[in-house]
Amino acid sequence: MNVISGIAEMQSAAEELRRSGKRIGMVPTMGFLHEGHLSLMRIARSHADAVVTSIFVNPTQFGPAEDFEKYPRDIERDTRLAASAGTAILFVPTVAEMYPDGYATYASVDRITDVLEGKVRPGHFRGVATVVAKLFHCAAPHVAVFGQKDAQQVAVLRRMTLDLNFPVEIIVGPIVREADGLAMSSRNVYLSPEERRQSTVLHRSLAKAGELIRAGERRAGVLIGAMSDLIAAQAAAKVDYISVADADTLKELQVLAQGASVLLSLAVRFGATRLIDNSLVNL
Ligand code: AMP
Repeated sequence: MNVISGIAEMQSAAEELRRSGKRIGMVPTMGFLHEGHLSLMRIARSHADAVVTSIFVNPTQFGPAEDFEKYPRDIERDTRLAASAGTAILFVPTVAEMYPDGYATYASVDRITDVLEGKVRPGHFRGVATVVAKLFHCAAPHVAVFGQKDAQQVAVLRRMTLDLNFPVEIIVGPIVREADGLAMSSRNVYLSPEERRQSTVLHRSLAKAGELIRAGERRAGVLIGAMSDLIAAQAAAKVDYISVADADTLKELQVLAQGASVLLSLAVRFGATRLIDNSLVNL
């Protein structure tokens, strides 16, 4: 595996791969890799000849009160893991080169960023869309793989890729979970042992809503009520939002119609740690 930090060097490496007829698959990450990230690298490998994994803790997607400074980092371990999952090039640009003095250009996606995560984290998706556009220009991928864990991010990046005419196919990998159901996340290390025990409530409440839907329940309010009851039973958990929305437009639904594609999603805080999870239900 080749480790590259310079943008010009990454662009030359990508050009060389393309010139020799290789398909490039990209997996953008913020590092502190776990099995969720590694699964995306394996998916990328199955769609491409060379996988470029990027590790970049992107300052523009963190709010002023968020955890940019203390976001977990372990580049040595990440290097080993990325190589083991079939990454050919690990791209680790610096903040100074990505956002030099005078930097002034942003990609902002309208409408679908006004709800859910975008509503609670103003500016977050502007940072995400901007950095992914830049990473696409650095690595020139044919395909890029993102996780269903960040469902709204996928919707935003699909829109950005289409609207800005990036010749990149977007592929979505399923959510990888711990044995007890907690969705893997680099931020899970922030949880105290007690919070970690209670954190399975995200997955359990999504499972409960899924059961109710299978039993015939179609009222979004009833689903949300059942999920919030489960969460309220966990002393450390505070709900940010629980949403039952159309999977494409992300508009909240009152009633689940036959044939609908429904995104159940939620964000829950445990002390200073904020966890998200979701599940897609096709009726
Ligand atoms: P992050 O490092 O958190 O920015 O995530 C990088 C990529 O990994 C994003 O496309 C995430 O959606 C994806 N990802 C994060 N956690 C998981 C998970 N548990 N399962 C699948 N993909 C994930």
